[in-house]
Amino acid sequence: MSDAIPASDTRAAAGAFEAAHGVTQHVDVAVVGAGFAGLYLLHRLRKAGFSVVGMDEADDVGGTWYWNRYPGARCDIQTVDYSYSFDPELERDWTWSEKYATQPEILRYLGFVADRYDLRRDIRFGTKVIAANWDDATARWLLTTSNGANVSCRYYIMATGCLSAPKPPEIDGVKDFKGEVYFTSRWPHQGVDLKGKRVAVIGTGSSGIQSIPIIAEQAAHLTVFQRTPNFALPAHNGQVPAERAAQLQQDRATFREQARWSMAGVPLPPATELSFQLSDAERRARFEKLWAAGDLVGMLTQLWADQATDPEANALLAELFREKIRSIVRDPETAEALCPNDHPFGSKRPCLDTNYYATFNRPNVTLVNLRKEPITAITPSGIKTGQRSIDVDVIVLATGFDAMTGAITAVHPITGRSGKSLTELWAHGPQTYLGLTVAGFPNLFLITGPGSPSVLSNMAVSIEQHVDWVVDRLIELRAAGFTTVEATETAQAGWARHMADCATLTLHRLANTWYTGANVPGKPQGVMPYTGGVGPYRSICNEIASKGMLGFRLTGPTVAEQCNDGEVVRLQPDVRLVLNMLAQMNLPPIESMGAQGARDFIAEFNKSRPAGRPVGEVKDGTLTGADGPLPYRLYRPATPGPHGIVVYFHGGGWVLGDEQSDDPFCRDLCRRSGLIFVSVGYRHAPEHRFPAAAEDGLAATRWVAEHASELGSRPGPLMVAGWSAGANIAAVTCQLARDRGGPEIAGQLLVCPVTDCRFDRPSYSDNAAGYFLTRSLMFWFWDIYCSPADRSDPRVSPLRGKLAGLPPAYVVTCEFDPLRDEGIAYAEALQKAGVAVEQLQARGHFHSSFPMVDVVLTSASGRAQMANALRRFAGLGQDNQSQRSDPTTFNAAAE
Ligand code: NAP
Repeated sequence: MSDAIPASDTRAAAGAFEAAHGVTQHVDVAVVGAGFAGLYLLHRLRKAGFSVVGMDEADDVGGTWYWNRYPGARCDIQTVDYSYSFDPELERDWTWSEKYATQPEILRYLGFVADRYDLRRDIRFGTKVIAANWDDATARWLLTTSNGANVSCRYYIMATGCLSAPKPPEIDGVKDFKGEVYFTSRWPHQGVDLKGKRVAVIGTGSSGIQSIPIIAEQAAHLTVFQRTPNFALPAHNGQVPAERAAQLQQDRATFREQARWSMAGVPLPPATELSFQLSDAERRARFEKLWAAGDLVGMLTQLWADQATDPEANALLAELFREKIRSIVRDPETAEALCPNDHPFGSKRPCLDTNYYATFNRPNVTLVNLRKEPITAITPSGIKTGQRSIDVDVIVLATGFDAMTGAITAVHPITGRSGKSLTELWAHGPQTYLGLTVAGFPNLFLITGPGSPSVLSNMAVSIEQHVDWVVDRLIELRAAGFTTVEATETAQAGWARHMADCATLTLHRLANTWYTGANVPGKPQGVMPYTGGVGPYRSICNEIASKGMLGFRLTGPTVAEQCNDGEVVRLQPDVRLVLNMLAQMNLPPIESMGAQGARDFIAEFNKSRPAGRPVGEVKDGTLTGADGPLPYRLYRPATPGPHGIVVYFHGGGWVLGDEQSDDPFCRDLCRRSGLIFVSVGYRHAPEHRFPAAAEDGLAATRWVAEHASELGSRPGPLMVAGWSAGANIAAVTCQLARDRGGPEIAGQLLVCPVTDCRFDRPSYSDNAAGYFLTRSLMFWFWDIYCSPADRSDPRVSPLRGKLAGLPPAYVVTCEFDPLRDEGIAYAEALQKAGVAVEQLQARGHFHSSFPMVDVVLTSASGRAQMANALRRFAGLGQDNQSQRSDPTTFNAAAE
C-alpha cells in the first residue's frame, strides 16, 4: 500500500485519466460490483483514505436491482430492514413507500445513496473484469478489464453478489424458437408488451412466482411450466406496518443493533417453544397470524423452535401450507400439483407472492406439471413435453442462477500465489475462510461469498457487517505496516468443518436447491451459505480480529511476518452458543454454592430447559437400595410391550441431581431405543459418602432385574446406562454384578464416565475451565464423595478394577470434557481385557452435550447411536425409528 495516499478524488481523477488512455490504473483497492455491497465499500474505503476504483458491467449502480426488472419484482425482506444502517442521517432522509418495495423503488434508493455520497465518479460502468492475477513480486493484483485500462491494485474485492450469473435453461432448442425469449434476470429496460400474447413461463422460484400473476393479467394465455412446486406466502403488501415503523422511529439504534445480532438479520426474537409443546390449535393460530401478516422471515423463524431443524416439526408446518393452497386453488388436480411435498419448508428458498395461487383459477392460465410431463424440447413454435406441444409467442425463463460461485468464477482465470487457479481450487466446491477470503489468494476479498451467511440472511445487514469487517482490517493492517493478508489452510479447513457442522443442524440437505448447487447440472454439491446465523457469524469475525487475526498470515516489507494460525471454532455450533450464553450469565462457580445451594441451583436451571419429548408412560415408584428405599422414575416406550429394560444412573458428581434430573435424556433414549428406562434416585454425598452410590447401583439393578416382568419387561438380561458420575455407577455396577453373583447384565452404556482418580491426563488441563464441568468442580465432587484413601477402590475408580468378563460396552466421550481421557482409557482397557467395546468420541462436544436434548441438537445422532447400541445389547435389530427425527448425520468420529 502506498505510504502517502493522495486525496481520493485526486486519485480518482488520475485513475479516470489512466483508464481513458489505456494506461494501467493504479489504486489501493479495486471493487467489482456496484450494488448494495460495492456502493458501501466505495464509501467506506474512500472515507478511510484508500484510493479506489469500482467497476460494474451494468451502465449504472444497482447490482441485482439493476438487472432484475421483470414485472412484479420486489424484495421480500421488509424494506425497513432491507436498508443501509451505517448513517442515521441517510436513514432519516429516505422513507420507503411500501412494506415490500418494488424493484424501481429499490433502484431509486441505491441511486439516491450513490448521489448522496458522490460514488459514481469512482465507478467504471460497462466494465467487466475478465481476469485477475496476483503478482507475488509486487504483492498486487492485476485485473484485466473488458473496457479501457487494466487495473493494478493492492486489494481486490469482489462485491459481485450471490445471484448475478443467470443459469442457462438446459433445454434443447431455445435458439430455434421463432418468438421472443426473455430471462427474468435480464429483463429489457423498456419493458415487454405481453398484451394479447400466448406466454410461457418456465420456472417457479421467487422470480417466476412474483411475475406470473402480473403476466397472467396481460397475456392472452399463460402456461406455467413447473418442475418443483414451491412454498409461497402472500405478501399482503401495503404500507410499512405501523408497529414496525414505530419501533424503528422510537429507537433506531436498538432496532438496528438487534438485527445485527439476530440469526437472520431481522430483529425478531427466536421462537422458544418446541412443536410438541404446542397444541394443534396453538400451532395453527401462530401459522394463521404470520400468514395474515405476510411476513416471510417470521414464517421462517417464529413458529416453533424446531421448525427448521426437525423434519417432523417442519412437516406440521408444510401441511398447513398445503391446506392453504388447496383452499385457494379451485381445480383439485392443479392444487395438488402446486403443493410442495418433496422438501421441508425453508430448505429451499420459499417465496413471497401476490395472488400467486389464485392466478391458477383464471381461465387464461394453465399449469403444466413437469414432474408428470417433462419438457423434451423447445421448438420453433413453442414448448414440447412428453405428452404434447404447446405453441406460444413468448417464453419467459425464470430458471434462476449459478448461485454463490457463478459471478466469482465468471472472472477467469483468477490466479493466486504460484499461479493457483480459483476455478481449479473450487473444482470440488468452494473453499473459503469466513466466506470472505481464500487461502492462496492474498488480498482477495469476497463480499457475501460462499461460506458467509449471505442469502440466508437479510443481505443488507450481512453486507454492512462484511464491509465493515474488511475495511476495519485494512485500516489496521495499513497502520501496522502489513501489505498482504492471507487466510491459512488450517483456518480454511476449520471453517469448512464448522460450516458442515452448522449445516447438519438444518434441513437444507434434504432439498435440491441453488443453496447446494443442485440447480446447475454438474456443479459440486454442498450447502454453500453459512447456516450458523448472522449474530454468531459476527461474533466469530470479531473473535478473529481480537485474537490477532486468527487464521491469517500477514506480511509487509518493513515488518516481521505475523501468523496466529488456528481454527476459530472447534466447538459444535450449538455447544458454542450454549457456552457463550452461560458465560454471559456470569454464574458463580457451582462449587462455591455448597451442596444444597448447588442442588437448588441445578433444579432451578433445569426448569428452564425444554421439556422432554412424550413417551408411552412415565411412572414414579420406589425400589430397594443398599440401605433402604430409593425413588425411581420409569419411562415406557409408546410401542407395544413387553420391552427390554435399562437401569439408568443420572449425572451430578455423586452430589447433585435425582431420578428426574436427566428426564429429557431418558425420554429421548427410551423413544429411540424402544426400551424401558428406570432412572434411579441413588443416595448422594455428603449425606452418604463412598461407597453408598456404588452399592445403591448394584442393589437397584438387582431389584429391577427381580421385578422386571412387573415393570413390563420381557425376560432376559437387562442393561445399565449412565452419564458422568452416573456412568461411573453403571460401570461399577457391572463389575460388582460380575463379582457378587449377578444380576446378568447384557451391556453397559457409559456416557462421559468418571473412571479414575488420576487428574493428570491431558483433558484435565486442556479442558480445565470454560466448558461448564470444570476441573475444580470435579475436585469438589471427589472431595465430597470420597476421601483420598478410598479413591483407588474400583468401586469409585473402575479403571483400577479387574475388567475381564464384563458385559459389552458403548463408551461415549466428548472432546471438550475434563473426563474425556479417562473415558477413552476405560474403553481401551476394557478392550485389552477382551470386552467388546465400541467408542463414540464426540468432536466439538462438551460434558453436557448429550443430556441437553433439544438444546444441543448436534448431539442427536450420537444419542441415536447410543440407542442402537442398547438395542444390540438387548438382542434387537437396528431401529430406523431412532434415526427418524434426527437432525444430524453424526460426524463425531475420533479425530
Ligand atoms: P430459482 O429459485 O432457482 O428458481 C428457478 C426455477 O426454474 C425453479 O422452479 C426451477 O425448478 C426452474 N428450472 C430451472 N431450470 C429448469 C429447467 N431446465 N426446466 C424446468 N424448470 C427449470 O430462481 P429465481 O426464481 O430467479 O430465484 C433465485 C433466488 O433469487 C431466489 O431464491 C431469491 O433468493 C432471489 N430472488 C429474490 C427475490 C426477492 O427478494 N423478492 C426475487 C427474485 C429472486 P427446480 O426448483 O425444479 O430446480
